[in-house]
Amino acid sequence: MKKNNYQPIIGLEIHIELKTRSKMFCRCPADHFGKPANSQTCPVCLGLPGALPYPNQKAIDWTIMAGLALGCRIPLNSKFDRKNYFYPDLPKGFQISQYDQPLAIKGELDGVRIRRVHLEEDTAKMLHRKRQTLIDFNRSGVPLMEIVTEPDIHSDEQAKQWLKHLQQIIRRLGISSCDMAKGSMRIEPNISLAKDKIKLPNYKVEIKNINSFRFTKKAINYEIKRQANSLTKGQKLVQETRGWDNKRQTTYSQRTKEAAHDYRYFPEPDLPPMQLTKEKIAQIRKQIPELPAGQKERWQKEFGLNEYQARVLTNTPQKAAYFEEAAGLAKKIPAKTLANLIINNKVNIQQTEPKQLIKQLLTTRPQLAEDQLSKIIQRVIKQSPKPVTDFQKGKIGILEFLVGQVMIACRQLNGQADPNRVRQLIKQKLIK
Ligand SMILES: [Zn+2]
Repeated sequence: MKKNNYQPIIGLEIHIELKTRSKMFCRCPADHFGKPANSQTCPVCLGLPGALPYPNQKAIDWTIMAGLALGCRIPLNSKFDRKNYFYPDLPKGFQISQYDQPLAIKGELDGVRIRRVHLEEDTAKMLHRKRQTLIDFNRSGVPLMEIVTEPDIHSDEQAKQWLKHLQQIIRRLGISSCDMAKGSMRIEPNISLAKDKIKLPNYKVEIKNINSFRFTKKAINYEIKRQANSLTKGQKLVQETRGWDNKRQTTYSQRTKEAAHDYRYFPEPDLPPMQLTKEKIAQIRKQIPELPAGQKERWQKEFGLNEYQARVLTNTPQKAAYFEEAAGLAKKIPAKTLANLIINNKVNIQQTEPKQLIKQLLTTRPQLAEDQLSKIIQRVIKQSPKPVTDFQKGKIGILEFLVGQVMIACRQLNGQADPNRVRQLIKQKLIK
């Protein structure tokens, strides 16, 4: 029996804490993680009566930068609005956010349309104990960027890959750590199932604040199954907000979704509307560094890296910058060799400057004799049973690990070997 013909319709909302020095509307430090509770507060972020907000220009510029990097249009007029609701983590009784005039609109990344990118303030953090709930206001007022996509995603895996790419871009821009374990990137997928591709479903289920890619994938997958089950039974699904229970590996209902007008949005009277100029936007655009996707492609062409090497290196801004500098300096050392050294952590990029590394590599060492090399390879193979079996099972990338081990062993003998020759010899010994 055919299980179902439902098409998952998935949209994402992503909250990202910006790593500005100060908070969004006051001068308290924005870096709140692990700080003593309520040590970074003032009348503004405590929401005391009469305290006036003062906007953080850097947070505004960075949100525009993110918008531009995601292919968005930046309207020249933007403003902050009050989103009114009552909750213990929101001392003012409203959150300063953006409603109908966000900083960036209509972007696109990997075929997924981006509806908007806007800026708001984070709420305080509640700590639930057995019989009490404590509130830490250090997080209250931290600049929070929200990215909202159109429902253009159709599987759990696509959502995960897309989010990873987004994280990579934001990290490259240097505007957030996007550290999910610390809550600086939080994901809210919304999921519904369509019977046919033309008509969108009239409900959607939003899952609140997920803090890992893996859980996001699991939650989406769970929802798809749950909803398909209900629909197959002829049940009607409603608009609701659910949470992800990682212990039970299920989602659970939290509330039926409030409509937007329940928040009674209105323009923030304490902040003037923002007026941008084309010059200002152009200036921000110029500050955007080369993004990982473009860099990855260029390195494959320019330096002959393979897809894996280029992907791993572009994934971390530090590694990427290090490789770029080293490859630019090294004329005699193949870029691939440099790439492997960095990827396999054979060089401490915090301690060794690219210049030093090249110098070390160029300090000539005698080529080891073939029989000596052969012995080293034998030894490395013996010492690495797991990588060897993995390689024989077809995990070809692991070969570079073995090559690396041999190269290190050679260096310990104060000699060197040609990595291509080493590769060849290992293959000869392992492929029978
Ligand atoms: Zn403050």
